Amino acid sequence: MTVPEGHTVHRIARQFTADFVGHRLAVSSPQGRFAAGAARLDGQVLTGTTAVGKQMFATFETGDVLRVHLGLYGAWDFFGVVSPIVDGQDARGSMGAPRLRRAVRMGEDEREPPSAEGGLLASFPPDPVGAVRVRLATEHSVADLRGPSACEVLDPSAVQAVVDRLGPDPASTDDLEAAGEVVVDRITSRGVAVGQLLMDQSVVAGIGNIYRAELLFRARLDPHTPGRRVPREVVRALWDDWAVLLPDGIRTGLMLTREDLDDEGRARAIADPTERHWVYGRAGLPCRVCGTPVVVEEMAGRKLYFCPVCQR
Ligand SMILES: [Zn+2]
Repeated sequence: MTVPEGHTVHRIARQFTADFVGHRLAVSSPQGRFAAGAARLDGQVLTGTTAVGKQMFATFETGDVLRVHLGLYGAWDFFGVVSPIVDGQDARGSMGAPRLRRAVRMGEDEREPPSAEGGLLASFPPDPVGAVRVRLATEHSVADLRGPSACEVLDPSAVQAVVDRLGPDPASTDDLEAAGEVVVDRITSRGVAVGQLLMDQSVVAGIGNIYRAELLFRARLDPHTPGRRVPREVVRALWDDWAVLLPDGIRTGLMLTREDLDDEGRARAIADPTERHWVYGRAGLPCRVCGTPVVVEEMAGRKLYFCPVCQR
């Protein structure tokens, strides 16, 4: 199973910016577990949405902020008007769908929600199905959140405290240079394995299991190397590479991490998830560079994939 990584959360924030920001929202908790928070936000104008790492912050006119972390299982279903969030690209899975009848699930990947076969709705707004923690609705668009690890209302100072505990995110900083130096300092001052540090959201934000494995392979770096043994310029190159992969993931909605593909190969990888990665998910299969079987092991409770020859 895969888990939402930073690019997904940025895409979700952009979907809200496209279709919900500037609107007065009807906010409810069909499941009931967020009833008090929903009542507080109901009827307010949404003024902005941002993502930092794997967290989304939706700010309302009174200054109230809805903080959502999808965790392992969370996803948003968007219904009705689901606008393109990248110039010239339609929302995935809904190409040509008539206005008001679209349905897109944004979580570990992007697809049709099971409740809307063919990516189309029978009617709008759709009835909430299952455990919907919160529903945000305009006249034309509905977003249903289910399965998050966090969904709460914060004030701006509490939001700042959350953000302050997160490492830099290349897609939410204006100064990639300075942010990169912060990440270099944090990694090179620790004795913990670099493979573990890349997943530590207080070191660098937004990297999950897939990006972690792929960034380390692209750098040909042994994941077990303690942070303080990794040369500063190598960490800097990891950050610079993350600052390339993340915007690419935000643009495409895919974690396509192989830079060796021509146009045809890229098209194949878009259609076939097993063609997208260097090492992730390829335990026992030959390394795409040297042919050695890719190794999988547990690191801090998560599966880590690497090539023992290329990355030593
Ligand atoms: Zn190899």
